[in-house]
Amino acid sequence: MTTTTDYLYEALHKHFGFDNFKGTQEAIIRNLLEGKDSFVIMPTGGGKSLCYQLPALMMEGTALVISPLIALMKNQVDSIRSYSEADNVAHFLNSSLSRAQMRKVKSDIQDGHTKLLYVAPETLTKEENLDFFANTNVSFVAVDEAHCISEWGHDFRPEYRRIRTMIDAIGREIPIIALTATATPKVRTDIVKTLRMEDPTEFVSSFNRDNLYYEIRPKGKRDDTIKSILQYIKTQPNKSGIIYVQARKSAEDIAKLLEVNGIKAFPYHAGLDAKTRSDTQDAFLMEDLEVIVATIAFGMGIDKPNVRFVIHYDIPKSIENYYQETGRAGRDGLQGDCIAYYAYNDLVKLEKFLRDKPVSEREMGMQLLNEVLGYAETTSCRRQYLLHYFGEEYHPSQCNGMCDNCRYPKERLEAGRELRQALMAVRDLKENFPLKTVVEFILGKQTKQLLDFGYDELDGFGIGDEKSELFWNSVLRQALLNDFLYKDIEEYGLLKISSNGHAFIENPGSFHITLNHDFDQELIDDEEEAAGKTAVLDDTLFQQLRDLCRREAKKMGVPPYVVFSEPSLMDMATQYPVTLEDLESVSGVNKGKAQRYGQPFVDFIARYVTDNDIERPTDFVVKSIANKSKSKVQIIQSIDKRIPFEDIARSLDMSMDEFMEEIYSIVQAGTKLRIDYYIDEQVDEAIREDICDYFMQADTDDLELAFQTLKEDDITWEEVRLMRIKFLSDNGN
Ligand code: ADP
Ligand code: MG
Repeated sequence: MTTTTDYLYEALHKHFGFDNFKGTQEAIIRNLLEGKDSFVIMPTGGGKSLCYQLPALMMEGTALVISPLIALMKNQVDSIRSYSEADNVAHFLNSSLSRAQMRKVKSDIQDGHTKLLYVAPETLTKEENLDFFANTNVSFVAVDEAHCISEWGHDFRPEYRRIRTMIDAIGREIPIIALTATATPKVRTDIVKTLRMEDPTEFVSSFNRDNLYYEIRPKGKRDDTIKSILQYIKTQPNKSGIIYVQARKSAEDIAKLLEVNGIKAFPYHAGLDAKTRSDTQDAFLMEDLEVIVATIAFGMGIDKPNVRFVIHYDIPKSIENYYQETGRAGRDGLQGDCIAYYAYNDLVKLEKFLRDKPVSEREMGMQLLNEVLGYAETTSCRRQYLLHYFGEEYHPSQCNGMCDNCRYPKERLEAGRELRQALMAVRDLKENFPLKTVVEFILGKQTKQLLDFGYDELDGFGIGDEKSELFWNSVLRQALLNDFLYKDIEEYGLLKISSNGHAFIENPGSFHITLNHDFDQELIDDEEEAAGKTAVLDDTLFQQLRDLCRREAKKMGVPPYVVFSEPSLMDMATQYPVTLEDLESVSGVNKGKAQRYGQPFVDFIARYVTDNDIERPTDFVVKSIANKSKSKVQIIQSIDKRIPFEDIARSLDMSMDEFMEEIYSIVQAGTKLRIDYYIDEQVDEAIREDICDYFMQADTDDLELAFQTLKEDDITWEEVRLMRIKFLSDNGN
């Protein structure tokens, strides 16, 4: 025994320079050396390649490595060669080689130089190649990324299904080792079955990543979700993260929004050219970039150890995808946050995409989506749910608050009686239906399916109709998690009763559940809470700010409303801005106005906040890239070019009233507009002076009041309105 071990370690050291095996590598290699079939399930980065590379170097003959991507093949070959004196120790065979290169590869194999040959499944099928391999000493076949065999895997490759036929054609009892990083029980049986592996030894490493924190948040309107994301990112200054979205356009839009709000972010998707993509990837690796907003195209093969958060703006199509994508966080072992925004409607949208697919694909897609739904809505430990999905046992007591449900547990309800009812419903339906149908049966829904089978005549039909659908979904999902029910692997998705479940029907006891999340309701609650929290005007502060405004205005020789309008003061007395930057998000205040008048106000508010122990709303205003600002810019530019107002309004498709309203708000917010060119033509000089005198002594710039006073001098409404803008612009800005 020891000699074998020594021999193995020696080989490991000699070929790779490592002193120890990682995880289960040693046992796997030994199994393969003994000529047995092996099935390896190991998370990404676990060290799967070495499991076949080392035995290949140690054994007689050439090992065939079937690998899905031509690009990866070259990498792998280069990496093996880097450990060896001779290049011909490893080769690849695929359509990219010339005839001469192929001949060289084959002669190296025949001469016994080549220990590893990487091939694509398509290359294996070629008649000439099969003949060649039949006359070659093949040590074993390794199938890397073996989930490609199964339609349930996330990148299914039909040609992978023919591997067994090809091995048979080579005509030997060749051992097989299959390796994958993603294997649900369904994918796992698929692989073993399709490769017809001989009673393989399974090596399953744990998929648990205990430094990852999982959380699901309700997804509301886009702006609210963006705001929530921004608030989160601001708690992670200068940290790297990835935001996953489904559509290219969302990637572009969200990256832009983050940029506007001071976060260095770039989009990444398949629509960008190769150079832009690799530049973006480099910038992310070099930390010039905090956030990548990516469609699923991003992340394959990227190994950045310090990704601190992965946010799913859109819910993924399967738990496999979700797990793969969240897995990119925290590779360095430090905490990584995985936050997904979930709206039931997003799932409905994904379902709609499936509608045009062939039936089998559609059904499969639906089931994968159902698992995502179950994950999102569960109130049990999320880590338990994920690991259970990958066929691993896990007890929530180990989670240590590293998921939202364990951190903020929900109230538990006694549901022993209902568990028994649910189990009996599964039995009534002959264990022949998925969860959704079982719930319909318990609720007594007269669906066509249930009526056709006559199930509505059974006693159990409608037995739970006084409880909600949410309640029964919760009972059934938690029965699955706690192993009273399971899903049959062959007929994926159909609920079956486990031996635990049968025992519980005979001998019922207590069973505690938590109700699943109802995110629609949680969203409404959040909004109500938010509405209750914000928009409380601090009247004391407001009065003091008004006084301050009067004093400041007097110093500058302008009326108070020129400094800040009353609505702006009110907003200040609500939001408590304490820096000039904060002040810019107050309504009616832009950068210019904040710079010119703001300092005494924010100083005053800062003192007031400290003196009175006020907790400022942490909420901040998300700056948007609104279309409105586009028309503002156009107005300002047109006025600079002295274009008549009527023409500007027409080109923007605005009425004259709307246009005047718009330029009033522009000057009010602090922008100076030179409109004399227009006024000189419209308003008599004497009248101009009269109106200015009026505004100089007035308490407010109220238009109606001004007009009532001035109309006695035969001044028109239009004249007052126009002059008010000039007055504000000249004196305030
Ligand atoms: P996987 O294919 O499972 O994602 P790889 O085979 O690419 O993982 O290996 C991941 C990393 O682990 C590689 O950098 C490899 O060199 C390293 N590695 C593998 N085995 C060992 C070992 N026994 N000791 C140290 N490093 C190892
Ligand atoms: Mg690998």
